[in-house]
Amino acid sequence: MKNEKPVREIRINPIVPTESVLVATARSMRPKKAEAPAPRDTRRHVDTCPFCVGNESMTPPAIATYPAQGPWEIRIVENLYPVLGDDRENPNLNLGLQQTIDGYGRHEVIIDHNSHGAAVHEMTESHLALLFGAYRARMEQLYSSNRRLRYVLVFKNFGPAAGASIAHTHSQIIGMPVVPDNVQAEVVNSRAYFTKNHRCIFCSLIDEALTFEATFYDRESGEIRRRIDVGQFVIERGERFIAIKPFASRYEWEVHILPLTHHADFLESTAEDHADLARVLRRTMARLDAVLGGAQYNYFLHSVPHGEDSSGNAASFHWHLEICPRTTIPSGFELGSGLFVNTISPEEAAGTLRAVVLE
Ligand SMILES: [Zn+2]
Ligand SMILES: [Zn+2]
Ligand SMILES: [Zn+2]
Repeated sequence: MKNEKPVREIRINPIVPTESVLVATARSMRPKKAEAPAPRDTRRHVDTCPFCVGNESMTPPAIATYPAQGPWEIRIVENLYPVLGDDRENPNLNLGLQQTIDGYGRHEVIIDHNSHGAAVHEMTESHLALLFGAYRARMEQLYSSNRRLRYVLVFKNFGPAAGASIAHTHSQIIGMPVVPDNVQAEVVNSRAYFTKNHRCIFCSLIDEALTFEATFYDRESGEIRRRIDVGQFVIERGERFIAIKPFASRYEWEVHILPLTHHADFLESTAEDHADLARVLRRTMARLDAVLGGAQYNYFLHSVPHGEDSSGNAASFHWHLEICPRTTIPSGFELGSGLFVNTISPEEAAGTLRAVVLE
């Protein structure tokens, strides 16, 4: 991979074609700056931390704790500073070009682990499986609690570079009355693909990652322009899940994890699924952590939205977890153009991640 020629091309996201990425790997063209790695808080216990064991009175009472018996390993509480809340039920407003939808919603914090600074790859697989079970249970409860909720977003910010305001490892879950734009774009485009091809585009992408190979030659010189090897974008493969480096990755070290068989809704996932997902995620995070020297990242679950007019998406949408490590600061070029710039070719990044030797 080392002797590959620099890449400079705009790659179209196959699922959301309006979202494109400039892959520009030549050092001289790098238009953005690396994020200075902020040290991760690795302490096990912090006396003043509201999420640490012994400080439970500093948070609202627990909505749920896991496991069912004994000291808590995962604890779920109301967010004290909700971005959306259920305290107000204002009518929607429509004043000229200023339209608002009532900010109704639910915002909860999932304290992922009782050890303050535990990183995902340091957690046991059985703990991670428990965490996915907690995500599923809360998601189910929120959807059934109010019919106005159209989307329940589960996400995790880890490390200061990823916007985590409390260092103690935690995830968040927000139930909202609208479907977020980027989820909606995936839903609409995957449905259009299904109408045309009678196949789920995510299933097609998994197939391609596992089977496709090709060599493209330059017409004039006869030199190899690009080689695509089987499995070139695969980072981890479990029995039920696969971790893939997207061909049009927005972030240098972005990785997506998908179920190998077709499922639109995370709510369909079982304890067996969670066990394999735990293994694939833990190994993927260990690879990212080894390469990045302490990964700071956001991850989020994209699952099929609920509510009216969403029933037709079960065959075309395919739930997945997107992991987006933060290693660079977005530039004015990116913010102004909406074009993501990726300075490491996804094929090379995939090779680097796969080369990490795990214990
Ligand atoms: Zn803590
Ligand atoms: Zn599928
Ligand atoms: Zn997605």
